[in-house]
Amino acid sequence: MRNIYGLTIEDLEGYFLSIGEKKFKAVQLFTWLYEKRIKSFDEITDMKKTVIERLKEDFRLDKLNLAKVERDIEVNKYLFDLEDGSCVESVLMRHDYGTSICISSQVGCNMGCKFCESGRLKKVRDLSSYEMVLQILMVEEDIKTRISHVVIMGIGEPFDNYKNVTDFIKIINHPKGLSIGSRHITVSTSGLVPKILEFADFPYQVNLAISLHAPNNEIRNKIMPINKAYPIEKVIDALKIYYKKTNRRITFEYIMLQGINDTVDCANELVRLLRGLNCYVNLIPYNETNNIEYKRSKKDSIMKFYDIIKKNNMNVTIRREFGTNISAACGQLRSKREDL
Ligand code: SAH
Ligand code: SF4
Repeated sequence: MRNIYGLTIEDLEGYFLSIGEKKFKAVQLFTWLYEKRIKSFDEITDMKKTVIERLKEDFRLDKLNLAKVERDIEVNKYLFDLEDGSCVESVLMRHDYGTSICISSQVGCNMGCKFCESGRLKKVRDLSSYEMVLQILMVEEDIKTRISHVVIMGIGEPFDNYKNVTDFIKIINHPKGLSIGSRHITVSTSGLVPKILEFADFPYQVNLAISLHAPNNEIRNKIMPINKAYPIEKVIDALKIYYKKTNRRITFEYIMLQGINDTVDCANELVRLLRGLNCYVNLIPYNETNNIEYKRSKKDSIMKFYDIIKKNNMNVTIRREFGTNISAACGQLRSKREDL
């Protein structure tokens, strides 16, 4: 039986038509699920008893099991148990402009980036769209506030789970769903070229971020194995097509790893690589982890790097750090619960 929180409005319209009902019932049901937040189909008052019985037969309305919450001043970290015994983490951040949540898209990740804690656990499976929707619903329930921004930057490679991730976006973006504006949703990918091209035709104005992390193939091959399949120039070509079709500015994420990708030469090479693209570079001070030997770049190398990009009139920021106290920062999430 499918979990109801994984169905898009189109899926539900198809469902209602298939049981001989009008398709506007889909919007009604979305309102019950996401506005009224029902706990049982019996709470629905504007559908016939027979329809409600059908819904009960055909769909589950289960939530995830919240195993643990860690709270810090600006950040909460949530650990959820999934039905098959896997776990998933989500991180809530409070900003002056609202609250954002970082969603995981898979259990583990197969991309194997050398610096990433999440990538050390091979992919166990993709998350279903309902498991992503419920990360948001349950966190909203906990904080009793609506979440305004969503980043798909937790564990997993979202473009390796394309259908479920795009269904998830459709559900949370729908005005009768969670109504999170598409410009407030960001998907981050390690650069799966065919999916970047497919995403260029996805008719939602969602932000795209690329985990670039190196200005050339030599360095990128060393830290991101995916670069051997889709080298930098292929990624950039795909992004040019993406930009032509969507007109949306692209974000490049660049983790600062001491002695690996943080030299003045690297900064100049990055400027040459990205020149002419409408983009935004986000420098990320690396979060060191116990199991990985990479070190965070020194503050002055980060500043020098930043200055070079800035001087070349490109948009650049240094990412503010969130959640390091409770290991909720980028790359520190896990999908195991052994130290619960
Ligand atoms: N798989 C996707 C999305 C999840 S990773 C991707 O790679 O884009 C989200 C971001 O966190 C990526 O840019 C990733 O490279 C970065 N990241 C991974 N480990 C990190 C660490 N230890 N410190 C800082 N950022 C890290
Ligand atoms: Fe996977 Fe992203 Fe981590 Fe790479 S950085 S291993 S793609 S989660």
